[in-house]
Amino acid sequence: MNEMRQTWQALDYAHHIHPFTDPKALKDKGPTVITRADGAYIWDADGNKILDGMAGLWCVNVGYGQQALVDAATEQLRQLPYYNTFFQTVAPPQVELADTLSKITPDGLDHFFFANSGSEANDTIIRLARHFWNRQGKPEKMTFIGRENGYHGSTLAAVSLGGMKHMHDMEVSLLPGFEHIMQPHWYTGSNPGESPEDFGLRAARALEEKILEIGPEKVAAFIGEPVQGAGGVIDPPASYWPEIQRICRQYDVLLVADEVICGFGRTGEWFGSQTYGIEPDLMPMAKGLSSGYAPISAVAISERVYKGIEEGGLLSHGFTYSGHPVSCAVALANIRLMQELNLVDRVREDIAPYFRQCLGELADSHPMIGEFRGVGLLAGLQLVKDRETREIFTAQDNAANLCRDRCLANGLVMRAVGQTLVASPPLTLTRDQVDELVGKLNPALDETAREFGLL
Ligand code: PMP
Repeated sequence: MNEMRQTWQALDYAHHIHPFTDPKALKDKGPTVITRADGAYIWDADGNKILDGMAGLWCVNVGYGQQALVDAATEQLRQLPYYNTFFQTVAPPQVELADTLSKITPDGLDHFFFANSGSEANDTIIRLARHFWNRQGKPEKMTFIGRENGYHGSTLAAVSLGGMKHMHDMEVSLLPGFEHIMQPHWYTGSNPGESPEDFGLRAARALEEKILEIGPEKVAAFIGEPVQGAGGVIDPPASYWPEIQRICRQYDVLLVADEVICGFGRTGEWFGSQTYGIEPDLMPMAKGLSSGYAPISAVAISERVYKGIEEGGLLSHGFTYSGHPVSCAVALANIRLMQELNLVDRVREDIAPYFRQCLGELADSHPMIGEFRGVGLLAGLQLVKDRETREIFTAQDNAANLCRDRCLANGLVMRAVGQTLVASPPLTLTRDQVDELVGKLNPALDETAREFGLL
């Protein structure tokens, strides 16, 4: 296996470009070659068994090795591997998936457009929202407002929609028609003495200020993840979303809840919008829709927006693989399995409370953790040099990456986002596996803290 691993690493360097990776750093280190997975574990080419605390990339919600999904894909490949939805044609899995989604998404979202990735879903939203306003006789209503550190994907439009500085820096300029407001992170953004509730209202009112600055007649939509995922698991104070919703309604700005990470049980409800009481007009979803077993995304669309589109003539938008039958069949099997296993209730009532209790205890007792945040099976551990002053490690310190690497050496995948360690494990995680996760994380934190003289 070792020889094979070296061959794969050499070929990888020779021919394969990795997303979100510094090619030179990868060249020096070589990629970890992952060869198989089962349950909550992955195995590398050297046979090491690793607990996957990130469920792949926030997506393998039902865990690896679920035969029902494998069977659904195999059967659909035999029956009808592909047919398009452009020519006024449809295949049963596409209809059944749209129908199933209408039953689990928040009330009022009953129409679905399929794509292949979160990025495509968000590009779709930009096109649909602008088309909607145009057909309403308001073509000027085309600006989107997102948030700093928001992540909505990596296509040109999705990068502009998101607020990731390092991604913006790669562009000579962003597309026109995209604006950003502050993120609702109380720990780093609040004024001295400001309560989370007051801060949440202030962060939401940044939207009102931005709408008034641009002019409500020019603003198409606001987009936010219920909990910012790739921005470091930022869960807003309880006052935030109701105020955002009020502002969107007052100025007739469409509200988009990006559920690509929060959807499908991650927060303890089917969708993060249900956890936070958000009533979105448009809702992109991906990842957990198929638990990552096949690429698929969807956009849920409200009656109002749908009616506008229905009256709008030819919808000149879509992808060859919109509603790919195999992906739809896998997504259907995935949702059925989640229902059979009662996974959403299990997250809310059992495994997430235990996960939060164990990580919370670790965070409370550890000198390097300034804040433990998140909801459900989404966790962020903010690494700090000083808990009193909330001094965060710098990029040069590289503390989160060092700790992440130590976790991996201990057999645990965590992710480093800035100076935050992030976890988003499969929803099938057992209590023993929570203990294992904390047991592997703890020494990695200790070693890192020792390096910085904090222990
Ligand atoms: N939106 C959110 C909230 C995401 O987290 C992501 C991916 N992490 C995307 C959109 C983009 O999805 P994809 O990578 O499938 O294009």
